Amino acid sequence: MNIVLMGLPGAGKGTQAEKIVEKYGIPHISTGDMFRAAIKEGTELGLEAKSFMDKGELVPDKVTIGIVRERLSKEDCHKGFLLDGFPRTVAQADALENMLSDLGKKIDYVINIDVDKGILMERLTGRRICKNCGATYHLVFNPPSESGVCDRCGGELYQRADDNEETVQNRLDVNIKQTQPLLSFYEEKGYLRNINGQQDIKQVFADIDELLGGN
Ligand SMILES: [Zn+2]
Repeated sequence: MNIVLMGLPGAGKGTQAEKIVEKYGIPHISTGDMFRAAIKEGTELGLEAKSFMDKGELVPDKVTIGIVRERLSKEDCHKGFLLDGFPRTVAQADALENMLSDLGKKIDYVINIDVDKGILMERLTGRRICKNCGATYHLVFNPPSESGVCDRCGGELYQRADDNEETVQNRLDVNIKQTQPLLSFYEEKGYLRNINGQQDIKQVFADIDELLGGN
């Protein structure tokens, strides 16, 4: 069962990834973890990636793709894998197709957790943090009993700069622009499965589970 998981920030990708790997016993392969592991193991590609990261530069596709290939060749991927955060571009998706075909594998599903932008905005801008004790709240999902005041210590609640409307809007727009061609690519290949991410967490997983056959 070879899966690529997609979803915009705030869509609940991380939560669903955990549930999928737990139920299906396949490794969760995220780009960040993969880089960290390759660097820790000191592989040639890992060290090459590190040299770019140390300079604060983007790791070139050639290196990233090599690292993905090494990871997908490992023993624990024989039953399948859940790729998260890769591919990010059509070029990477193409490279993934070629590499999988070399390895005698193929993608079974590209699961896209689909949530309207307006709802993502609400999810991503609603977080409030207590200045005093650091407790976190959410205006919609976990509101304080008195607006702007911490339930735990009475401290003042604030919004992190990262969570403000303009920053979040920009982040989403960049992601949407980047993701759109990738979704079209997978749609044309017939891999794409959209899952309604606007339901509660359990129902989103139930839909994914049904798609994957529930076993
Ligand atoms: Zn507090």
